[in-house]
Amino acid sequence: MSDNKECQGCSSSDCSESAANKHIKNELEDHEEITRRLSNIEHKVLVLSGKGGVGKSTVAANLAFYLAQQGKKVGLLDVDIHGPSIPKLLGLEDAKPQGIDKTILPIPYSNNLKVMSIGFMLRSQDDAVIWRGPMKYGVIKQFLMDVQWGDLDYLIVDSPPGTGDEPLSIAQMLQKPEGAIIVTTPQDLSVLDVRKCINFCRKLHIPVMGVVENMSGFVCPGCGERIDIFKAGGGARMANELDVPYLGSIPIDQAVTMASDAGKSFIVEAKDSGATAAFQNIAKKVLEYHKQRLGDASEYFSGGARTDTAASHDSSTEENRMRIALPLAGGKLSPHFGHCNQFAIFDVDKAGGKTIGMEMVDAPPHEPGLLPKWLKDKDVEVVIAGGMGQRAKGLFEEQNIEVFIGVPSDDPQTLVSTYLAGGLESGDNLCDH
Ligand code: ADP
Repeated sequence: MSDNKECQGCSSSDCSESAANKHIKNELEDHEEITRRLSNIEHKVLVLSGKGGVGKSTVAANLAFYLAQQGKKVGLLDVDIHGPSIPKLLGLEDAKPQGIDKTILPIPYSNNLKVMSIGFMLRSQDDAVIWRGPMKYGVIKQFLMDVQWGDLDYLIVDSPPGTGDEPLSIAQMLQKPEGAIIVTTPQDLSVLDVRKCINFCRKLHIPVMGVVENMSGFVCPGCGERIDIFKAGGGARMANELDVPYLGSIPIDQAVTMASDAGKSFIVEAKDSGATAAFQNIAKKVLEYHKQRLGDASEYFSGGARTDTAASHDSSTEENRMRIALPLAGGKLSPHFGHCNQFAIFDVDKAGGKTIGMEMVDAPPHEPGLLPKWLKDKDVEVVIAGGMGQRAKGLFEEQNIEVFIGVPSDDPQTLVSTYLAGGLESGDNLCDH
């Protein structure tokens, strides 16, 4: 039965099917709109942390300032729906972004820096707390669809903390961010969270640009002696152990707190502070990272080795296209593969990580063993299913079709996006007939 209230009480299967089709079509159109909005941005960088309060927004904001100082065109996007702190950190609490032609313009902070925060859109800090998951997803998606950035060299994204549904949706909606910076503090517990963030990035195939250990030691403003309040060096050890780059550490510094409280950037306001020197070393490495990736790409275009960056530039060729099929019931993934009467078949650009098209196809009349061949004839290479009989599973394997079984019922575009981001996994077979 459909969740749609308008459909309740209506027994026509056509009706719920058309609602399902409409939902999928809308999801696709939204996905394309986000792609259009982000298409003139060269580098998208996610700033993540395992939990709040470790300085993630401070690092994101000051990285944006540093890059703007270097002459780059930068956007700073705050999607931390539960604690958007960028308006406070930049003294923009009263800012009201302008809307033009159903789009929102980011706040022009300086010549090279534009700022947008989901906090500008919330009527109160409590709004997001009472929203349920789908509503938060909708707000974040609408926000990404509406903000008109124009041409940017960098979009720095201040993500919600943790590795739950919200950062996951954002990482997927951003469509292949170029990399992630993970911010942590030196306590053992925070360092454990870094491991989760690294695994999160690996699952989504987002390269980890590096780990930043913030609030690492305290330099006494009186005598200049460094005191390690927490055990320092945990971030570096963890980065080494998990084989990701370590970008550096930033000490606890009164200059940072004072600048933040005044709504200013500490690297601009406290040029001579220890925190600024430490931060600049970190930000330089971020710039170097991109130069290196661009170097790799030019090597590719001149006939050298192929890289991830190059692959994303070269994503529109036929060989990158593939088809993914999902059995549907009421617009969502059906738990019964063999008995579903409709399939969504997506055409995707695998290298570019995006959906190109989708068609709804009625299943052939039920006949044991028919579906694998029928889908093979439609050039399907991947099947995403809730439950499936052993025989069908074996037949798909014979046809070299990859099958994900035990995938929870969700909307098909979300599942396809999760697959493209490398995050889809098989679970328990939900129904084996
Ligand atoms: P998060 O985004 O992880 O929740 P914030 O960036 O909002 O954390 O930082 C939380 C508080 O800690 C802010 O008041 C900020 O000024 C302060 N802070 C962050 N880093 C430092 C630092 N290195 N030294 C002193 N204060 C800091």
